Amino acid sequence: MAVIQTNKSAMLYSEANQYTPGGVHTSIRNVDPHLIFTTADGAYIYDADGNRYIDYQAAFGPFVLGHRHPYVTEKVIEAIQRTDLFGVGTTDLEIRLSEKICRHVPSADMVLFCNSGSEATYHAIRLSRAVTGRRKLIKFQGCYHGWHDYVARNMLSAPDMIGKRDPGSAGMMDEAVDNTLVCTFNDLDDVEQTFKANPGEIAALIVEPIQHNIGCVLPQPGFLQGLRELCTQYGALLIFDEVITGFRHDIGGFQKVAGITPDLTTMGKAMANGFPIAAVAGKQSLMERFNTKPGGDVWFAGTYNGHAVGTAASIATLEMMERHNVHEYIFRLGERMRQGIRDIHQRLGIKAYVAGFGSVWTTYFLENEPRNYTDLMQNDAELYVAYRRKLLERGIFKLPMNIKRNHISFSHTEEDIDYTLQCIEDVLKELKE
Ligand code: PLP
Repeated sequence: MAVIQTNKSAMLYSEANQYTPGGVHTSIRNVDPHLIFTTADGAYIYDADGNRYIDYQAAFGPFVLGHRHPYVTEKVIEAIQRTDLFGVGTTDLEIRLSEKICRHVPSADMVLFCNSGSEATYHAIRLSRAVTGRRKLIKFQGCYHGWHDYVARNMLSAPDMIGKRDPGSAGMMDEAVDNTLVCTFNDLDDVEQTFKANPGEIAALIVEPIQHNIGCVLPQPGFLQGLRELCTQYGALLIFDEVITGFRHDIGGFQKVAGITPDLTTMGKAMANGFPIAAVAGKQSLMERFNTKPGGDVWFAGTYNGHAVGTAASIATLEMMERHNVHEYIFRLGERMRQGIRDIHQRLGIKAYVAGFGSVWTTYFLENEPRNYTDLMQNDAELYVAYRRKLLERGIFKLPMNIKRNHISFSHTEEDIDYTLQCIEDVLKELKE
């Protein structure tokens, strides 16, 4: 059995704890063993003890091309050798990137840049309140749209809190929590009843078109179309939060794949292959309400918005997608992985469901396809923890939680997939003993 050395990581982690609560800068990073990472290269990441891992966490999704992709790195260096950030004005990079996004993403007549997915969803929701003059928002149990008060409720709820009032943090404003209504994913009746029970009050419905924050819960046929129709019927804006799906599943986002056009779209993560930039986009009539245009009445600002690093990285990432068969390649590897895991489960008689789309997959230790968050309560979380740990010891890096997803990038190879499959088979055999 492989055992990894983590002495240097442990030493550095104890130092990190002296300066930072918990030694990590985002809550979900606090997992055992606490690894200190030093290097990243393509499909691989390396820790302070020199252990190499095939990376499938992809930093929660951004790495669609792989770490430090040479073309993206080259374009970022080229950009910062001549430019950086301007307080007032517009850069050539911002214009080139805006043009690309508006050309590729069906709902994007116009686009504005910010720095994180949370900022993007905040702006989209505030805009929808201004446009409709209404206060309430619909989100789905298990969806994550960032850390701010508008949306940070009913994410990974405990079983007894599903669908109930479940704020994600102390210190949230009651009014924000109570104006966000929670529905069940893939349940159009629930959404319709919520619209009916709140007549003329719902400003917007925000949804991850694939529930990737709980792995890969796919919209059932007709669900996204149904949301589109209900929003139109009840005068609410439909916001697709494509912070994970955008650019990962298609250069036009999952809306292009599904053929459903929302009113507003939020994007981030794979947009710039790991560099910090995000965006909100939508119909011109809506976007022109932002006060970046004189006369607009919805505040939009940010010192670092449109920074050269993020815009150059995003242009390069989209150029890679325009010029190479990025999605065809990562989808093929995704299918190889999913089918390979299914075959292993069958050979070993393991009861598990392999979900996925394109380059993403999740192994749920439950029998049937989950259609919403409640279905995942049957998942064997303890088994997942042991499974992940044993894979980590063999150099496979997956997200720490039992209902999180794995990502394949343009830098992964068939050999990486086949090695991973071999490890999965070995680990499942061990766990069966
Ligand atoms: N929306 C979705 C769907 C996300 O998955 C995330 C982050 O994981 C966010 C919004 C928030 O993005 P950020 O972490 O960049 O603020």
